[in-house]
Amino acid sequence: MATTSCDVAIVGAGLGGCFLALLLGRRGRHVVVIEQGPSIPSAGADFLKPPGLRVLARHGLADLVERHGLRRDIIRYYHDGDPIQECRFPDGGFLIRPYRELVELIYASCAMEGVEFWFDADIDDIAADAGRVEELTLSDGRRLRAGVVIGADGTKSVVRRALDIDQVTMPYERLLMRVATVPLSVSVAELNRLYFSSEGWLAYLYPLNRDQARVFVGLPPEDDKEVFEDGIPALLDRLKKFVTDSSDAFNALQPATWQRIKVSSLRVSAYHKGNAALLGSAAFACHPMTGMGMSYTLHDAEILADVICAAGGDGELLDRLLHARYEPRRHAHRELIDYGDALAATFRDRAAYLAAFRPDLHVYGEAAAPPAELPALRLS
Ligand SMILES: Cc1cc2nc3c(=O)[nH]c(=O)nc-3n(C[C@H](O)[C@H](O)[C@H](O)COP(=O)(O)OP(=O)(O)OC[C@H]3O[C@@H](n4cnc5c(N)ncnc54)[C@H](O)[C@@H]3O)c2cc1C
Repeated sequence: MATTSCDVAIVGAGLGGCFLALLLGRRGRHVVVIEQGPSIPSAGADFLKPPGLRVLARHGLADLVERHGLRRDIIRYYHDGDPIQECRFPDGGFLIRPYRELVELIYASCAMEGVEFWFDADIDDIAADAGRVEELTLSDGRRLRAGVVIGADGTKSVVRRALDIDQVTMPYERLLMRVATVPLSVSVAELNRLYFSSEGWLAYLYPLNRDQARVFVGLPPEDDKEVFEDGIPALLDRLKKFVTDSSDAFNALQPATWQRIKVSSLRVSAYHKGNAALLGSAAFACHPMTGMGMSYTLHDAEILADVICAAGGDGELLDRLLHARYEPRRHAHRELIDYGDALAATFRDRAAYLAAFRPDLHVYGEAAAPPAELPALRLS
């Protein structure tokens, strides 16, 4: 079967892969995106915080994503039923837009830039030699040769494995997450409310659009069987103990379909090797309570696009630029992952949660100055 050549091969058509493809396509690069699924991913994050909105605005996409999206500027936090704090987002707040819709908009913009998408594409082999990825082979025999290869293929990245980059995944096992989409109620339309309890439970209710709301429930694994396998009445009994200002949403929870979500943090020992680099959840994953994964990923894609274009096809220069300009992103990611860990570890305890909560990171992200030197990643 024929071999295709391109400037940049991107594995994964999630937010990171699609946005990078768009930036490179606009700058005249021939980009091929390889996606294992039949289309862009169907589920994922809902909140785009101010740093991510600013990235999109820099590339003329703000109006496009805002259309049909919902703006919110306050999250109210409760502990054991009492309101304990509000996080305020100035300058228009953050955007709620279901992940698939957001990625779809960016994907659609890629078509105008000549980006090629190969869907239902299974990678059989990634041939690397002397620290460079030479060729990708798909299970249907197609081959792809690219000057640059990007692994934007999520937490189980095959590109990361081919590059032999170490990773540490830490599942948040003390808090199982369930999510349901339900009809919008008055209290949810009014305000985003996040409740947590000293019994180790969490409930987050927010609007998705003018008709629907999303409800996240986090609970200790030992309670999951009793509540979700043995019946929804048990869920309502438990929620009534600490969800005080959203009781008008309870009726909608009974008929809802509750999906289980696995949440883990991910740290990796390097972000690139030679002509290949990792992007998005292939490079880092943090607790969703931070609501910042997409914002950082969009900024990372911007940096990668600049580096790839500045290298102009020179492999050695690309390696040097990735080292100098992309690897330091680990400072910011590590800070965010640590922050997510701190929130997840303290939410049973009101005082500890409030002490761990950082409005600067929550609202602006990447606020703190990076440490002078990046400590080595400890791998077990
Ligand atoms: C429960 C949850 C809630 C979250 N909420 C928020 C939030 O509100 N705000 C926020 O900013 N961030 C949030 N995040 C983080 C956010 O989802 C990620 O930062 C973002 O999706 C990263 O985008 P991505 O392109 O790396 O990954 P993904 O969307 O995971 O895309 C990876 C793509 O690669 C494809 N793929 C995988 N393997 C292969 C392969 N071998 N070959 C080809 N294709 C492959 C997959 O099919 C997928 O399409 C949340 C995360 C979770 C888990």
